[in-house]
Amino acid sequence: MTRVFRILGLWKRRRIVGLVAPLSVGVVVLLATCAKPPRMPVVDGAVIEIRRSDGDLRPGEAGYASTLQLYWFGTACHLIRLGDLSVLTDPFVTNDLKLFGMESDPGRVAATLGRIPPPDGVLVNHSHHDHILDAYAAMALSSWREREVPLYGGRSGLNVLAGFDGGSVDPRWHTAAHGERFRIAGGKAGSYAEITPFQTRHSPHLKCGYTFADGLVEKPRTSPPRKLTDFQSGEVFNYLIEMHGPGGARCNVFYLGAPFDLGVSPESLPPVGTRIDVAIILAPSADNIPGYPEKHLARLRARQLVLSHFNTFVREDPDEQLAIAGRDVVKMPKLSRDLQAAFARNPTEYPEFEKLHIPAITRIEGDGRVRNVIRIR
Ligand SMILES: [Zn+2]
Repeated sequence: MTRVFRILGLWKRRRIVGLVAPLSVGVVVLLATCAKPPRMPVVDGAVIEIRRSDGDLRPGEAGYASTLQLYWFGTACHLIRLGDLSVLTDPFVTNDLKLFGMESDPGRVAATLGRIPPPDGVLVNHSHHDHILDAYAAMALSSWREREVPLYGGRSGLNVLAGFDGGSVDPRWHTAAHGERFRIAGGKAGSYAEITPFQTRHSPHLKCGYTFADGLVEKPRTSPPRKLTDFQSGEVFNYLIEMHGPGGARCNVFYLGAPFDLGVSPESLPPVGTRIDVAIILAPSADNIPGYPEKHLARLRARQLVLSHFNTFVREDPDEQLAIAGRDVVKMPKLSRDLQAAFARNPTEYPEFEKLHIPAITRIEGDGRVRNVIRIR
């Protein structure tokens, strides 16, 4: 080494110091200008409150009939309950990602969807595997068959599901159409949900606007879908779910499973002025959607917001589910700040805002009690 320094003429100590010192200053200045400094977790005008999550409210318990209960089974699979009336979104509990050999896990379906009362209806946002893989298995549960649970989604999704049954389309599966409102009857007299689908486009996976497997499935499949590309996105719908509970309780939930640039797709959200109590909103891809979340929230003006689809389903540990191969794909700190900014900096545009919920995944214990439930009154 000394020889190298001699050749370079740096063998005297002070010459090395003389060279290294300005270099280090340069590196520090360069890093300071390139690196993004961490930002405060809370924007001016907002506050984050953390508290222990709730368990489920059961029939007969105070507030059961009038409290909206939200279970989150991970990804976009939410159970929305108002008393005995319930709607399930995007059945996916297998929590897996494979290019080939994708299969619904009957044990997981039984341990989650098999342990809740059959919902009054199932809504599918689009037909990628992480929204539909467990739909057939759930619909095949004997209690769901007896209850004749209906499922609604795009034609492509129904065609994908047909593959699980040799090509036949079950009469309980229905196609949704933009703006065509339909009614799901509750188990108890007088309870029902009115659903309005809003057609949209799949939120881009990449910043350049690209979406993987973004095609249609034109005909019923005759073999089970196994490859990731067998699950094309198909037609994509957000849903307005107007819940009318048995005791006259009301709650309007908007399931924003696929936000898109409102400049391109202005009809993907309900008309301005629609009352929305709770909006379930997409977390990943937020950076790839122009105007999201600010413009969408200013339009929806929901009282309460619930973040969705932010676990990456390649890990099992509930505290380790944000990254893929160590990469922070969801960027929750940034999204959290963007959401706070949307309501804190626009109090006149969005005065209805009350709360933002970031849920943990719902667990059903051995005794049947449910934990990690969001309760909204
Ligand atoms: Zn998707």
